[in-house]
Amino acid sequence: MDKNNNKISRVVIAGGGTAGWIAAAALSKKLGELLDITLVESEAIGTVGVGEASIPPMRVFHRLLGIEERAFMRATGATFKLGIAFENWGREGDRYIHAFGRIGQGSWLCEFHHFWLRARALGMDFALGDFCSELQAAEAGKFATAEQSEINYAYHLDAGAYAKFLRNFSQRLGVRRVEGKIIRVGRNADSGFIEALQLDNGRRIEGDLFIDCTGFRGLLIEEALGTGYEDWSHWLLSDSAVPVQTRVTGPAPPYTRATARGAGWQWRIPLQYRVGNGLVYCSDYLSDDEAAAQLLANIEGEVLTEPKVIRFKTGRRRRAWNKNCIALGLASGFVEPLESTSIHLIITGITRLMQLFPFDGIADATVNHYNALTRTELESIRDFIVLHYHLNERESSAFWRRCRDMEIPQSLAQRIRLFRDNAYAYQGDGELFRVDSWVQVMLGQGLKPQGYHPLTRLMPEAQLAQLLGGLKASIARGVAPLPAHQDFVEGYCAAELAE
Ligand code: FAD
Repeated sequence: MDKNNNKISRVVIAGGGTAGWIAAAALSKKLGELLDITLVESEAIGTVGVGEASIPPMRVFHRLLGIEERAFMRATGATFKLGIAFENWGREGDRYIHAFGRIGQGSWLCEFHHFWLRARALGMDFALGDFCSELQAAEAGKFATAEQSEINYAYHLDAGAYAKFLRNFSQRLGVRRVEGKIIRVGRNADSGFIEALQLDNGRRIEGDLFIDCTGFRGLLIEEALGTGYEDWSHWLLSDSAVPVQTRVTGPAPPYTRATARGAGWQWRIPLQYRVGNGLVYCSDYLSDDEAAAQLLANIEGEVLTEPKVIRFKTGRRRRAWNKNCIALGLASGFVEPLESTSIHLIITGITRLMQLFPFDGIADATVNHYNALTRTELESIRDFIVLHYHLNERESSAFWRRCRDMEIPQSLAQRIRLFRDNAYAYQGDGELFRVDSWVQVMLGQGLKPQGYHPLTRLMPEAQLAQLLGGLKASIARGVAPLPAHQDFVEGYCAAELAE
């Protein structure tokens, strides 16, 4: 079938976690006048209850929806995030920050890090982070919003509160919310398209297009449509997580902490009124009880919640869009939260759907295009995450040795070779992470390039020293007057809202 000419106006969103309400908010704000939108969720089933760190494009999404930053931050207890501090990753005792900002100023022919490598080869003692405002601000615990500085940032937020915030937003724009448990997915006998969701309370919700946001199980995309799952757990060995929340013990740093442990890693995400902590681990090497004990032994502050294990399988749904069903969020696949990419993927997924929205019927070309873009995006994120694990010299644990010795995706192996040989890094079409991100993590994980671009040799040594010295000083001058992050958050959230 090339095109199904059924007009599409009734959209049914199954699931009301972060994915469901992001989808509802975006559709109602941007296409609400053309669509009739219903969201079905079950309080009894609840949400996954984690997902608290984001990346900068979330701000673009909020601007698109007209969401005021202060209102969002107050509602979700949010703090600002300038990057992630990786501790003990390459080797025990190592530490580096993957910051969100640009690093230095390169030329069109080669990026800044080539000049920095040349300077290092000449014995100049600069750190790459000297040339990144976000990294310097993160280390100093300082922050101001983009209105007052050029700083690029994201947020730490309360995921449950965010879903509620977007729920109010969407309902004000006319999204109908239906409470109930979906017990059956009704499909057309000929086309296999989904026609309706049957709820346990006897209601039947009909629609033309269904967005599956039911979490890991993928009630529509998998259980009803049998789409299939590409398993990546041979590259990303972790299959479990145990989160706990703790009371605040001091000023919130403007970054996430990701600390490598014996069979995985631990996160620390500071919000205004609590701290999110969790251990991501591989159950082949650590039992659930050991994981909970290890986490509790390595956190500060009073524990506010019971540790509860979440099991997951890393990978992607073979087709995020199948027939008249599009999966978003955990239903579409999952790559562990090391670089806080899941909420972002929900946003890009719904944005892409709005760009390709099939008002006049679903065409194969549209579906194929959507699926190809989704695949490229997720595969490159997967490679980026595998990179963190694979490049390690940790000897003390079988888990880390296995990560180092495993065969990695060809696409990643090629990237590592390019960087090792000539310090060449790139951002491919449709890929999320910029060159600066790849460079920070490759260097941070201990990958040492053997060369750099010869163009840099054309700059006389004295000129290079002067250029880098000036740049470093200018970054330091920009960061010095910024307020402490904690003070800024308190003042910012206490101020009057725009309306
Ligand atoms: P869920 O939250 O599971 O929601 C599913 C919804 O479907 C619920 O409303 C549920 O009630 C409903 N539902 C299910 N079955 C039925 C049914 N039969 N009938 C009716 N309703 C039903 N992402 C980030 O961006 N940053 C992070 O820092 C981050 N950390 C994470 C840490 C861990 C350990 C994990 C596992 C994930 C993390 N994520 C993170 C991912 C993030 O949590 C999810 O992408 C996000 O919460 C979206 O989840 P969801 O809405 O797809 O699913």
